[in-house]
Amino acid sequence: MKNLWSDAEARKVADAYIAKGINPDLAIRVYTTRLLGSEPKLVLHGGGNTSVKTKMRDVLGQEVEVLCVKGSGWDMGVIEPPGLPAVRLAPLLELAKLDELSDEDMVNAQRCNLLDSNAPNPSVETLLHAFLPHKFIDHTHANPILALCDQPNGEALCREVFGNRVALVPYIMPGFALAKKAQQVFESHPNCEGMILLKHGIFSFGDTAKQAYDRMLDLVNQAEAYIAKSAKKSFTSAGLPKNIVSAAEVAPTLRGLCAITEDAEQRQYKRWIIEHRDNQAVMDYVNSRDLSRYSQVGVVTPDHSIRTKAIPLILPAPEVGKLEDFSRSAEKAIKDFGSAYRAFFERNNHRLGGIKKMLDPIPRVILVPGVGMFAIGKTAKDAAIAADVAENAIDVITMAEKIGTFESIPDADLFDIEYWSLEQAKLGKGAEPPLGRQVAVITGGASGIGAATAKAFARAGAAVAVLDLDAAKASAVAKPLGGIGLACNVTDPASVTDAFAAVARHFGGIDILISNAGAAWQGRIGDVDDKVLRDSFELNFFSHQNVAKAAVNQMAAQKTGGCLLFNASKQAVNPGPNFGPYGLPKAATLFLSRQYAVDYGDIGIRSNAVNADRIRSGLLTNDMIATRSKARGLSEAEYMGGNLLKTEVTAENVAEAFLALALAEKSTGAVLTVDGGNIAAALR
Ligand code: ZN
Repeated sequence: MKNLWSDAEARKVADAYIAKGINPDLAIRVYTTRLLGSEPKLVLHGGGNTSVKTKMRDVLGQEVEVLCVKGSGWDMGVIEPPGLPAVRLAPLLELAKLDELSDEDMVNAQRCNLLDSNAPNPSVETLLHAFLPHKFIDHTHANPILALCDQPNGEALCREVFGNRVALVPYIMPGFALAKKAQQVFESHPNCEGMILLKHGIFSFGDTAKQAYDRMLDLVNQAEAYIAKSAKKSFTSAGLPKNIVSAAEVAPTLRGLCAITEDAEQRQYKRWIIEHRDNQAVMDYVNSRDLSRYSQVGVVTPDHSIRTKAIPLILPAPEVGKLEDFSRSAEKAIKDFGSAYRAFFERNNHRLGGIKKMLDPIPRVILVPGVGMFAIGKTAKDAAIAADVAENAIDVITMAEKIGTFESIPDADLFDIEYWSLEQAKLGKGAEPPLGRQVAVITGGASGIGAATAKAFARAGAAVAVLDLDAAKASAVAKPLGGIGLACNVTDPASVTDAFAAVARHFGGIDILISNAGAAWQGRIGDVDDKVLRDSFELNFFSHQNVAKAAVNQMAAQKTGGCLLFNASKQAVNPGPNFGPYGLPKAATLFLSRQYAVDYGDIGIRSNAVNADRIRSGLLTNDMIATRSKARGLSEAEYMGGNLLKTEVTAENVAEAFLALALAEKSTGAVLTVDGGNIAAALR
């Protein structure tokens, strides 16, 4: 692991903050905290923490000793000074006199001593930082350290590798008891450079930020070198079927099986977003003969359990031509996982006197030999975090198995950490947005109505996939929404297949399709070239059929219903002169929408259309508006507002209509008009 310290960079970052009035110790603390946080093999997604002991002035201008320690919810890689709230040190040290302190009282005592009452909660490891005397303290869950200490003989191994450089602390859940224990261990090893918390991670200390950081890197590299030198075994791969089904084909089935049915009759489900990963390390891990042993042991460090639960689910390799068999065994395996999880909950909750409430029994990580790893979350972001955490666990367990046998903490400790109120608090609660846990795919999504629709659906909580001919433009819309942008030529069935496969790999499947891509061709119907008419049919009819088919396919595999939304047009019901080449396929698309409603209603798939008119967009450019309004002797505003409401209709208005139809759970076969009122185009 590379030491990233740079004198020049350290000076630059620190000086910039000092110029803004930030305490110099805190300024340099920010710099090395970011260095640690930018290395995923040291810390991931809110894991790890750092601190500095310094002096600050309180509101009376009196100088007080404080501990600036990482606040809950901040990511070390991008930390800013407010992410390291200052807590008065003296009252924290007083707490060491106590024999016991509950988590709630500890959090309260920490909050009560903040210099800024608006600051985030100081880390759950604050007291450990406070009770050690060093000025700068760094804490990570470094992978090579975990590989060494997550072993039956972890203590002896750490002793062998580090000698007296580090003190060893037995596994205790983070909190007051761990802080006291660490203090006690340190007092009997006052010259150590750091501490390994067995089955948890590592602390390094220093008089300066650089010393603590250098020691962290040095200790981690020493562990890495030991592992490289003494690696004996590597994974032996299991015998797998020759032809294995792709991740994209498997994902919608898994997504459907993991969905929790809240009301079968009303077709209400608690769905999940599922992300697939299959890099070489993941594949070596899932394809090994011993997968069912080392993957079922537990977490590599306690705070992973809130993201991945203690144990992942293993499924058999899905063989081509036998997807039905796979689906049946997956269904049984997910049920069995739930039963085992319930038993895990009950035996441990009983031990605690029945005070906890069971969380959902759905796995967060699914391992499929030959296919890879699927990570599960209630949002795309949560699924991606679970995937990153699971990949880290794979890295640690792979190293641990090379030098020995991976071992985790006991069942009771796994439970205590998963059901620890302070860990659960990290996940946040609150009501779910109306389209939370759903995946929406928008074609023609890079501009105009499509882009406005992607934004509206993302705001409503959906994970959005924006499809467009231009991948870069699609990504530019999708990325800020936390979604994905994909290149797709909707008139080409192979391109559609590829794009929908990518959606399945990234999100697990699809719940809502907004088939929006289109373009206006013109020509007097008796003279128009057949090619013009056929080209228009390709885009304005067949492309809708291509994407609807692909969507319905995944929806059928999920068995949790779905929603198709088509962008029809005023032309579909009210032909304008010389717009036959546009109106004819649009009329067919309106019919297509109803045909899907008829053919798929029995499996809960709804199909509706939006009938929009005169929207400023790629189809109706500003130049066209200028020409047309002039030709009619109208101002642009009069032309664009040439409807019953006398007001221009915007792309956002159309997006709202799509959203309303997506939320109208009992509407199918409907057309919603968004044209400001055009009685000639009103539907009967
Ligand atoms: Zn930790």
